Amino acid sequence: MFPPELDYVRARSLDEAIGVLASREDAVPIAGGQSLVPLLKLRAVSPGLLVDIRGLKGLGGVDVGGPIRIGALATHGDIEGHAELRARCPVMAEAASKIADVQVRSFGTVGGSLAHADPLADWPPVLMALDAEVHVHGPSGSRAIPMGDFVRGPYTTALERGELVTGIVVRDCPRGAAYLKYAYRHGDFAVVAVAAALRADGGHVSEARLAAIGVADRPLRLGQAEARLAGVPVSEDAFADAAEAAARSVSPPDDHRASSGYRRALLATLVKRALRAAAGR
Ligand SMILES: Cc1cc2nc3c(=O)[nH]c(=O)nc-3n(C[C@H](O)[C@H](O)[C@H](O)COP(=O)(O)OP(=O)(O)OC[C@H]3O[C@@H](n4cnc5c(N)ncnc54)[C@H](O)[C@@H]3O)c2cc1C
Repeated sequence: MFPPELDYVRARSLDEAIGVLASREDAVPIAGGQSLVPLLKLRAVSPGLLVDIRGLKGLGGVDVGGPIRIGALATHGDIEGHAELRARCPVMAEAASKIADVQVRSFGTVGGSLAHADPLADWPPVLMALDAEVHVHGPSGSRAIPMGDFVRGPYTTALERGELVTGIVVRDCPRGAAYLKYAYRHGDFAVVAVAAALRADGGHVSEARLAAIGVADRPLRLGQAEARLAGVPVSEDAFADAAEAAARSVSPPDDHRASSGYRRALLATLVKRALRAAAGR
């Protein structure tokens, strides 16, 4: 199917993009087009105007000089292939490499992925585990939103009308972090995936952050599992205990891809393995 007829404008500046988006209710931004174009072709969405933001300077790139700053227009491929980022925060390259295929990774952007808020998108759980901030700019100025507050539901975010994601900031990426994704084929959307970030002090867990997709209608912090890990010795027993707590704390959906019970069991396995992998780093 072809998309319906619509207007198109290539924004020359961030302010111009925001001005147009704020002034027309039927306007939407387009970045890599990897989620939006299929929806247009299916006529699942029918905006009147596409505001192309791909050419905007200052919205791309990866900077690891201080806090890690990744522009909204950085593609999954840019993140996967950035050697300094891989050295500083390996879990980000690991996550990027698990998204779709080379073609999608070459065009799809991290900002587009966050704004689209597919419940099975890979970036939200990783960025929740890394305690990242999402930076946005709109008609009322700029603000930073904690990743944990950004996704409000399936395909729903904290973005206000006219606001664009401009980038993400990870202030302190622990080396002890891992992202494990279970999919039926490499590059498919996850059935269940888990991100874990672990810090230890004197052999005891000083901080644990866990997030998952595939066990609710949105990415989920696994707070009860995190609580089980607080201050305990880093050990297989502790990981197994956290995995059981994680499994008990969720009510996964039951659908054509997997039963609720299967998702719960997968979650427990992935939590244990993700914690083991994080501790090993
Ligand atoms: C075959 C296929 C497989 C895929 N598999 C996976 C997968 O395994 N894991 C995964 O995580 N993703 C997957 N994706 C989705 C992919 O990651 C997309 O790149 C991503 O979801 C959207 O990024 P984009 O730049 O293409 O956004 P677009 O398609 O251009 O836009 C998506 C939405 O975000 C809005 N938007 C775009 N940029 C911004 C911005 N800066 N600020 C505010 N709003 C914005 C648009 O208006 C639109 O509503 C897959 C996609 C395809 C086609």
